[in-house]
Amino acid sequence: MIPTIKLNDGNEMPQVGFGVFQIPNHLEARSTVEAALSNGYRLIDTAEAYNNQLAIGEAISRSSTKREDIFLTTKLWVSNFTYEKAKQAIDHDLQELKTDYIDLFLLHQAYGDVAGAWRAMEEAQKAGKIKSLGVSNFWPAQLKNLELMMNVKPVVNQIEVNPWFQRTQEVEWNQKEDVAVEAWAPFAEGKNGIFTNKLLRQIGEKYGKTPGQVILRWLLQRNIILIPKSVHVNRQKENITLFDFELSMEDMNLISTLDRNKSQFFDHHDPDTIEQIFGSSLRELRL
Ligand code: NAP
Repeated sequence: MIPTIKLNDGNEMPQVGFGVFQIPNHLEARSTVEAALSNGYRLIDTAEAYNNQLAIGEAISRSSTKREDIFLTTKLWVSNFTYEKAKQAIDHDLQELKTDYIDLFLLHQAYGDVAGAWRAMEEAQKAGKIKSLGVSNFWPAQLKNLELMMNVKPVVNQIEVNPWFQRTQEVEWNQKEDVAVEAWAPFAEGKNGIFTNKLLRQIGEKYGKTPGQVILRWLLQRNIILIPKSVHVNRQKENITLFDFELSMEDMNLISTLDRNKSQFFDHHDPDTIEQIFGSSLRELRL
């Protein structure tokens, strides 16, 4: 049984889920999610930017698992960050996902007209189209700013967390703020030999577990929600078999020595990165 995390709006979400980034092929995305559902995953994490919402919608509607037993997350991309565009995008997402509600809807990034987009999300929540509202890639100050400006507080902040980028203080800040932390790229997408790391392997051997399972268990024990992605059925099963062991405090502390304190992807603080990723989309939306 996958434990749930109680969100600050009273809703609950599974602590382990399934991410579908980088599965753009329609049939592959559909069959991967069908497999994940039959392997016991009940949280599916997609995004407008992943270009696979149609496939996810098909997988869910074809599945024998009832819609109400599935926790579906999607994310608004920055090119839809105005009030009007966000309103339209939410309806479009519902259509693509073949559902009349989204369990958790996230602002994918912290740049652009977050307030306008959030207002549309608040209205969609009132209309029953979205159950819970959250953010992704928000630094504490950006999250605090949104909280102060808007009526509904985010329930989740989905950020990169993995052994190379542990973000101890930031995770604790979010959790103290009663905003659940959800780790994206829990395996750092395999970067820097994470699946063959000597320390993670040695720890895993003590419990009869793989380095991947050690990483996911380390996140669980920090009360973090996790959404590993795999198109392989055996890995999907491995990544959800996490509840028959517990890492000792000593092993948790050993894993903390792996921290490189640096994103393995891009620095959301860096103006050049912001220009490169969001520049053209945001210029087109100028208010
Ligand atoms: P990830 O889960 O850290 O790593 C996925 C990679 O690890 C894939 O190459 C997968 O290969 C491999 N893998 C998975 N399980 C394995 C295992 N047990 N043993 C060996 N290799 C394994 O990376 P991610 O997909 O980027 O992150 C997870 C989810 O977070 C995404 O799918 C997405 O939903 C979300 N995300 C959000 C953001 C954001 O900005 N909010 C950014 C990135 C990701 P195979 O698939 O070939 O098995």
